[in-house]
Amino acid sequence: MMQHNVDQQFTPSGDSRWTLQVDGFDPVLEPTIEAVFALVNGYQGTRAAVEEGSLVSRSATFIAGVFNTPDRPQTTELEQPIPEIVVAPDWSRLRIVVEGQELRLDQVELLGQRRVLDMRQGVLLREWRVRDGGGRVTSMRSLRFASLDNRHALVQLLMLMPENYSGHIVLESMVDGRVTNENNTLHLAPTEVAPIDDPSIPSTSSGSGSAPQRALLTMRTLQSGYELAFAAHADLRDAAGGEPARLLRELKFSTEGAIVHRWEWQAEQGHVYEMRKLVAVVTSRDTVEPAAEARHILNQLVAMGGAALLNAHTQAWAARWDAADAEIAGDAEIQREVRFALYHLIGAAHPGDERASVGARALTGERYRGHVFWDNETFVWPFYLFTEPQTARALLMYRYHTLQGARNKARATGYRGALYAWESCDTGEETTPPFIRGPRGDRLPILTGIEEHHIAADIAYAIVQYRLATGDESFFLDYSAEMLLEIARFWASRATLGADGRYHILKVIGPDEYHESVDDNAYTNVMAQWTLRRGLEAAVELQRDHPARWAALASRLGLTAGELDEWRVVADGLVTGFDPRTGLFEQFRGYFDLREIDLSSHDTGTATLDKLIEWHEVQRTKALKQADVVMLMFLLWDSFPPPVRTANFSYYEPRTTHDSSLSASFHALVAARLNDLPLAERFLKQAARIDLDFTRKGWAGATGGVHIAALGGIWQALAFGFLGMRPEAEGLRFEPHLPARWGSLRMPIQWRGSHLRISARPDGVEIAVEAGPPVMLAVGAGPWQRVAAGEALRG
Ligand code: BGC
Ligand code: BGC
Repeated sequence: MMQHNVDQQFTPSGDSRWTLQVDGFDPVLEPTIEAVFALVNGYQGTRAAVEEGSLVSRSATFIAGVFNTPDRPQTTELEQPIPEIVVAPDWSRLRIVVEGQELRLDQVELLGQRRVLDMRQGVLLREWRVRDGGGRVTSMRSLRFASLDNRHALVQLLMLMPENYSGHIVLESMVDGRVTNENNTLHLAPTEVAPIDDPSIPSTSSGSGSAPQRALLTMRTLQSGYELAFAAHADLRDAAGGEPARLLRELKFSTEGAIVHRWEWQAEQGHVYEMRKLVAVVTSRDTVEPAAEARHILNQLVAMGGAALLNAHTQAWAARWDAADAEIAGDAEIQREVRFALYHLIGAAHPGDERASVGARALTGERYRGHVFWDNETFVWPFYLFTEPQTARALLMYRYHTLQGARNKARATGYRGALYAWESCDTGEETTPPFIRGPRGDRLPILTGIEEHHIAADIAYAIVQYRLATGDESFFLDYSAEMLLEIARFWASRATLGADGRYHILKVIGPDEYHESVDDNAYTNVMAQWTLRRGLEAAVELQRDHPARWAALASRLGLTAGELDEWRVVADGLVTGFDPRTGLFEQFRGYFDLREIDLSSHDTGTATLDKLIEWHEVQRTKALKQADVVMLMFLLWDSFPPPVRTANFSYYEPRTTHDSSLSASFHALVAARLNDLPLAERFLKQAARIDLDFTRKGWAGATGGVHIAALGGIWQALAFGFLGMRPEAEGLRFEPHLPARWGSLRMPIQWRGSHLRISARPDGVEIAVEAGPPVMLAVGAGPWQRVAAGEALRG
């Protein structure tokens, strides 16, 4: 196929384990493909919509942390407006017109189309050929990437060739701010559209016209006041590298907020024309002068040139893959699916941004409005902890910067300390919609924002894991001890003393959202107890080792010795729902009395249980939405004897619908640890299919964005399940369980400043320490051994 200039530097990976590919154009699948093939770099995410648009296309770019709350509710379902992540200007919009006929897929005959996401290099390629009403065949190829090297840089190329005609072509390349969120919600207004005149930078284009090639668009979010600046350069060349003869070049602006680079020329049959566009995006979240900064970055990008930008970008991806890839020998399909998970995980967060976190659909769709749930800490975040710890730190800092919001929520609901929002945006205030209107206009309360409190413990768990895995003591002293103490304090105030002399946590929703307003959810109570104990330990340690720090912190928080005593009493008195005779945790009080329901033929892909039977009926059954007690088994694995782990898994798994995308991967994890490999493989596959099964009915689920928690769960299933990795106070322990079909599983892991590479095979494991200080390692139940850089432990 035709190649030109920058495009020549790019060779897509020929290895299908590194690529996703889709051929043709199916309007039904298109919204999902846009999410699955999205270009992501943690700063922004761009859905992979076809550049020229179509009736079903939903091109959207999201910039991490840019939220807005409109004046009025977005839909008639809502009673009040809800903050949401803003759809930013469409930076790769194209309009292609041949002899007056617009080449849109819904207006011409598509002769063939192939889209390839090269996950290894983070590049989206598209090749397509169309025949217009006049019988003219045009072949096109586009390449887009969002740089991982300079996350403000976006690059687009278009190669176009008239196959069987010479004719008049109009090409428009836009940065289009005339965008809205779903339901036509308007969040942005233009503040400036102007050419950029910078004579100090020599024009890279020779030839015709003096029209400037660079322009700036700035927009402001209507209520939250974030400023977004897009600076763009675009040029058009022919195969000889110059501008086509008699080119009419124009830079147009729309006061509604669009930059249009426009070219009009007489194209010749068989000639290839290449449009190249470089965009710099900066917001007021990054700097006080986003427009100036965007112009400055654009100058740098133009000076570097497309080929160097591509090179820096693919090198940045190579470095991330080196630190994160999971290589599975013997199963090419699962290998590709795992890489899909890792691609989106790498692209979901930014180590340099402490004020944004990963939303439930990352930066790939509007479902859940960009809100941050426990999905981040419990499902996604461990990937960063062990492959890019500075990102794990930045994401915890997001919780630190939103601690005030969590304090406000605790206070507003009559508790003390910090209760993190079930759904959080930029300030940490609770943003779960309190009500929605049902189809018959009935007012349905959404209880998650009021009752799903376990998220506070989930964040505490991440805080403790971070210190364990990184040994970052200053983070503990400066930030995380405070969060931990405030969360512990919340739990002490949340528990109530019952007539039985024990402490209870009433009226909650556990991870299983199919049961609401329950008392003593085992997951919540045990994690609350655990958090109280970690909080007490932190207090004792600070008093002993950092008395001055402790004095300052305790006085700032108003923490007294009496309050700490109370934490101890509550922790010791909390009921857990554990029955020593059966080894089972009762998911919540009264669960065992609920109605059994046969789920053996339940298929999440067809319909979830809450769509099959009435909501109040669902609540009367034992059916679970997702891992609940099973989740607890994993998180506190070492505190349960092996028979307890098995008993609870065997009891709860058959009663689980797996209707939540968060369920399958953790069942894969726990099944692998329990050495039930067929089941573990089945769940791993199921988790991988959530976004990638192109044929499944339920696939429309990825329309609103990829299920990033499920993808994070896939990494955890591999690391904690199949490799059997267990972070302990002494060091790292591994106990691999590999499916017979897998020749090997290799993963890099970072631990306390050292870089390890683990290679597991069915007959043994090797843990190599590649760099950093010596590490304490163990295999299976074996003894701890000190392993230095350059050495390896085999078992
Ligand atoms: C799940 C929650 C999850 C939320 C956002 C719900 O369906 O039950 O556990 O946090 O989706 O992904
Ligand atoms: C999810 C909840 C969420 C609610 C409102 C439900 O689908 O299961 O976790 O809070 O939507 O966004």
